[in-house]
Amino acid sequence: MNKTTPVLVTGGSGFLAGHCILALLEAGHEVRTTLRSPEREAALRAELAVAGANPEGRLQVCTADLTADAGWAGAVAGCGLVLHVASPLSSAAPKHEDELIGPAREGTLRVLRAAHAAGVGRVVLTSSFAAIGYGRILERPFSEGDWTDASAPGLAAYPQSKTLAERAAWDFIDGEGRGLELAVINPVGIFGPLLGPDMSASILLIKAMLEGRLPALPRLMFGVVDVRDVADLHLRAMTDPAAANERFIATAGDFMTMQEIAQVLRDRLGPAAGKVSTRVLPDWLVRLVAVFSAAARQAATPELGRSKTASSAKARAMLGWEPRPAVDALAATGDSLIRLGLVGRSG
Ligand code: NAP
Repeated sequence: MNKTTPVLVTGGSGFLAGHCILALLEAGHEVRTTLRSPEREAALRAELAVAGANPEGRLQVCTADLTADAGWAGAVAGCGLVLHVASPLSSAAPKHEDELIGPAREGTLRVLRAAHAAGVGRVVLTSSFAAIGYGRILERPFSEGDWTDASAPGLAAYPQSKTLAERAAWDFIDGEGRGLELAVINPVGIFGPLLGPDMSASILLIKAMLEGRLPALPRLMFGVVDVRDVADLHLRAMTDPAAANERFIATAGDFMTMQEIAQVLRDRLGPAAGKVSTRVLPDWLVRLVAVFSAAARQAATPELGRSKTASSAKARAMLGWEPRPAVDALAATGDSLIRLGLVGRSG
């Protein structure tokens, strides 16, 4: 592969996208990225430099928003490969589900159409485990053959948005986008070191735990994976011929309860995790509070108290992917929140 042909990473201001840019620069690639707010370029360059990269002369930045066509043709022009990472996330329930679904689905199609028209070879799409394992209970680990039922009653807007966006991507590749290769990464909750002060929903959970704002924890299970390993998997899926037209679950291991996550923070961060509670919130109380609270309604899913897990055997076997343990990803999140002075600060 010619490393002077730029790789486009959408949404360079994001947690995962920043780590993808770092990994690409480290591997010797030229990189182009999109921002929806051009004034964020200086901060992005500074964060990459602090993380040890030298973006000068090797990182181009352009402006594009997933909700509009403007800018996408220029963003993909001359790029051989695209990592489409940007997608709207919301830590709170959005006022209307279309706030997430429209930008995720239409935005994905915008990027794919522009990539196809520009003769890009392969797009790696950051989907989510939310497109695989929500809306139903399985007695076995979820795998790449499984899909979230986007019409399941009560399904939150985010899993709907990721499922509909990924479905739309595969439909595009099977139809008008024929010839363009697609590889899809389906990460579970992404943790690990922050590059700057912006926090995605998974990081906000750790921050809330460290600040003692979760005095008791619902009995829910989460997958954990380190952002550096998810970026590494994107690069493997970008270059390995075997990854074309495949999905890959990215999880470090078995899912963890929120209590187990809290215990890791206490064990690994010592006094800095003194406010982390490991108390269990009874299921009946979560369901009662859900009558009044949108946040509790998001948690009061059929999954409350149910065991759940997924396997990353496919990525390991096909792409030689070896993620670090979940406990290290969680500890790295806590360490970086503390190092950046973000615990106890609103934002
Ligand atoms: P993040 O830090 O919130 O990054 C999201 C990125 O998407 C930001 O760059 C954001 O730009 C951009 N974006 C949002 N709406 C946009 C729009 N309308 N137009 C253009 N860009 C827009 O979250 P992340 O954790 O890095 O997530 C990256 C990808 O991983 C997403 O596709 C997400 O669904 C997926 N994922 C995340 C997790 C997780 O636990 N975090 C788990 C599974 C999958 P601004 O900076 O301008 O807001």
